[in-house]
Amino acid sequence: MTIPGLMQPTPLTLDHVFERMRTVYADGQVISPERRTTYGELSERILRLARALVDDLGVRPGDRVATFATNTARHFELYWAVPLVGAVLHTVNIRLHPEQIAYICNHAEDRVLFFDGALAAQVGELAPELATVKDYVALGAAADGAPGGTRDHDALVGGAEPLRDLPAVDEQAALGLCYTSGTTGMPKGVLYSHRGMWLHSLAASMADHIGLSEADRVLPIVPMFHAFAWSLPYAAPMTGAELVFHGADNSPEHLAGLIEREQVTLSAAVPTIWKTLLPLYREGRADPASLRLVFVGGAASPRALIEAYDELGVTYLQVWGMTETGPLASAARPRRRHRGLDHDALLDVREKTGTIFAGLEARIVGDDDEPLPWDGQAVGELEVRGPWIASAYYRQEDDRARFHDGWLRTGDMAYMEPDGYFRIVDRAKDLVKSGGEWISSVELEGHVLAHPAVADAAVIGVPSRKWDERPVVVVVGEDGQTAPGLDALREFLAGRVPKWWLPDDVVVVDEIPKTSVGKLNKRALREELGDLRLP
Ligand code: ADP
Repeated sequence: MTIPGLMQPTPLTLDHVFERMRTVYADGQVISPERRTTYGELSERILRLARALVDDLGVRPGDRVATFATNTARHFELYWAVPLVGAVLHTVNIRLHPEQIAYICNHAEDRVLFFDGALAAQVGELAPELATVKDYVALGAAADGAPGGTRDHDALVGGAEPLRDLPAVDEQAALGLCYTSGTTGMPKGVLYSHRGMWLHSLAASMADHIGLSEADRVLPIVPMFHAFAWSLPYAAPMTGAELVFHGADNSPEHLAGLIEREQVTLSAAVPTIWKTLLPLYREGRADPASLRLVFVGGAASPRALIEAYDELGVTYLQVWGMTETGPLASAARPRRRHRGLDHDALLDVREKTGTIFAGLEARIVGDDDEPLPWDGQAVGELEVRGPWIASAYYRQEDDRARFHDGWLRTGDMAYMEPDGYFRIVDRAKDLVKSGGEWISSVELEGHVLAHPAVADAAVIGVPSRKWDERPVVVVVGEDGQTAPGLDALREFLAGRVPKWWLPDDVVVVDEIPKTSVGKLNKRALREELGDLRLP
C-alpha cells in the first residue's frame, strides 16, 4: 500500500537504466572485435533481439537463456535483451569441464543457448548432454561442429522489428544466474535480481567504491561468464562510461595493445592478469599512460604488484567480493584517518581488503556465530548481508550451510578495525593451523613473491605431527633464474614475517595450477603434490 504523498515507488528494474543508455548516452562508444559501435546503435539491436527472443525463440518471463561466450558487444546485447523481456541470463563459464557445464545447464534448465561461433565444436559435443536446450544460436560465424539447426545471432537481430513496448518486470524478478566456479563440490547457482543488480551498479559507481564516470572508457578483462563481469556491462552504461571488449584473446600483448590503442582509462581483472602485463609495461613494449585506475579482486593482491603499478603511475585498487555478493562488496580506498601517511604505510592500508560498500553490512563471527569485536585483532569468519547478497543457492534452498539469520557466511577469515576497515587474512580452508595459531597463506605468499627469483608461489598447510600443520611453499622460478631453496627463502623471509611463519619446506614446480578464472587452485596443487608429510 502506498501512503498518499509519498515518493514514487519506481521499481529498480533494468529498463530504466536501458532508457538512459539509449537516450542520454546514445553517443557513447562501444568497441568490440566484431564492430565499433555506440550505445545508441546497440540499444536498437537490443530491442530487435528482445523481439527475436520472444517471437522467434519463444522465450517467456522466467525462462533461462544461457550464454557460452567471451567478452563481446554481441554478448553485451544479451546482457540487456534477456532481462528486459523478463527472462534470466545464465552466463556459463566456458572454461569448466564438460561434465560441469552439462550439470549446470541441466540444473538451470536452460531453454536457449547462445555461443561464440568459434566455440561451435565444443558446444556440438556438449549438445547431446543438454536435456532442456531447444535452440542454439551462434554469435558470429559458427565454426565446424555446431549443433544441427544452429541459428545466427545477427540474422535473428536483423530480421526482427524492435520491441518498443517492453514488458513490466518486477524489481524482485531474477535477472541473471551465475554458478560459482566450484573449487569445492559441484557449482552452485546464485540468482541475481533486477533490484540487486541496479543497486550494485549504483554502489559500484560511487567515488569511494570503484568510481565510474562518463569520462571513463572501461575494459572489463574479467570474463562476462564470471560473476557478470563485476556488473560493468550495467554500471558503465548507467554512468555513461564507454566500453571496450577484448573478445577471446587474453594474451598480455593483445590486452596491453588494446588499452593503449583505445585509450582505456579503467580496467578490471584478477591479480594474475596484472602480473602478466607488468613485463610489457616495464620493458616499454606498451604504454599504460591512459589508465587512471585498475581495480583488482578475485584473490588478494601481493603488495609488490600494487607497488609496481604505483611506479607506472596507475592507481591499483583492491576490491573484494564473490559470486554470492553480487559480486562486488568492498574496496580498499584509504580513509580520512589515513591522510598524511607515507608511501609504505599507505601501502599497508591498500593491501588490506577495505570498507564494505554503502548498502551492505559486514561483521565477523567466531565459531559459535557470536559477533567478534572490531579491534583490529580478533579474526573470525566474515559475514555480509544486503540487497545484492544471495539469500540461498538456486534450487538448493535446503542447503543452508552458507546462510543463517539473514547473513551470508563468506568462508573468508578477516579482522575488522574499529571503523570497519577490514582485512581478509585467508580463506578459512587455506589458513595454516600451526600449534593452535594461524598462519595466513595469502600473506606468506605475498612475501615469497617479493623474492626476485620467484615468479609464482603458493603456500599450503601440510600435516605435521608436532604442530598439526606447517607451511610449505611451492614456487616457480623466474625465467632464467634458479628458484630459492629452503635456507635462502627462510633467510629472505626472516624479519618480514614472525619466526614461526617461516616455511618448513620448499617445493619447486614448473607451474602452479590455476582455476578457470586464474586463481591459485590449491585443491589441484595438493592433489599434484600427493602426500606431503613433515616430521
Ligand atoms: P570461487 O572462486 O569460490 O568460485 P568467486 O570467484 O566468487 O568464487 O571468489 C570469491 C573469493 O575470492 C572470496 O571469497 C575470497 O576468498 C577471494 N577474494 C576475492 N577478492 C579478494 C581480495 N581482494 N582479497 C582476498 N581474497 C579475495
